[in-house]
Amino acid sequence: MSIQAILSDLHQKYQIYTDGQCATYIPELAKANTNHFGLAVATVDGELFSCGDDDVTFTLQSASKPFTYGLALQNLGREFVHSKVGVEPSGEAFNSIVELEKSTHRPYNPMINSGAIAISSMIRAKSFGERQGKFMEMFENYSGRTLGIDEGVFASEKKTAHRNRSIAHLLRHFNIIGDDIDETLDLYFKHCSVLADVKDLAVMAATLANKGVNPRTKRSAVPGQHVADILSLMFTCGMYDSSGEWAYTVGLPAKSGVSGCIFGVVPGSMGIAVFSPPIDGKGHSVRGQKVFQELSKTLGLGIFK
Ligand code: GLN
Repeated sequence: MSIQAILSDLHQKYQIYTDGQCATYIPELAKANTNHFGLAVATVDGELFSCGDDDVTFTLQSASKPFTYGLALQNLGREFVHSKVGVEPSGEAFNSIVELEKSTHRPYNPMINSGAIAISSMIRAKSFGERQGKFMEMFENYSGRTLGIDEGVFASEKKTAHRNRSIAHLLRHFNIIGDDIDETLDLYFKHCSVLADVKDLAVMAATLANKGVNPRTKRSAVPGQHVADILSLMFTCGMYDSSGEWAYTVGLPAKSGVSGCIFGVVPGSMGIAVFSPPIDGKGHSVRGQKVFQELSKTLGLGIFK
């Protein structure tokens, strides 16, 4: 059976699942269409397969975090980045603040909000515009096209982000980030608001599967030496407090976003992306998880298979 046919079957099979709800804590995300459902696979040979709502754009939300982590590694090096952010799964929700109080006061990893806000403070340049330009250029290298920002979602998150603001202030208190707290948060909200469709996200994932080189444009998005770090942390921490179950049932490095996207990487082979807004209590797309579990099983994709 071809990849295209498998994707179409999965789309048909899981479209009828209506479990889960759109994220509401960012009011703009609550307006999403719960029927939207798109799937895409991009291979390291440059092929792209997709079906369903494959040209509906969504904001990357936390799916942006592995990429900004890679940018920080590239700009500042492993040693500095990990003097501020750890490499352990937190076992807590993505937006948890409690574990920051314990032990080193470093965020546990770059995949949760506290770690990603610390990473956003490491994207440095002379002005806010230049800082934003740096990550937009990086996303363009990964996806192979210029991506936009959903200013409505950005404004909506900025207005309601009391929890993330608390995290950022605690990070400042522990000297993990500097005094530019509001700018750091704005940068974080901006990269969470980058717009992509499932085809873009699958190509971005395939770029990670291809040691950092976009398999379609042949442009480098991140030096190959950083890819193992990115994928390791996606594997152990990318699905937050369901990372263990995900490793057990899917067996691939992956990252989700509360907009309902999930992307996964099959190193040396392909990138996979699913978009469907209804999410479970841990912030992962319900249809997305079903598709990944079945696709991994059908194609034997788990990295220990
Ligand atoms: N921008 C969102 C937040 O900070 C991202 C969370 C997510 O996708 N899990 O809450």
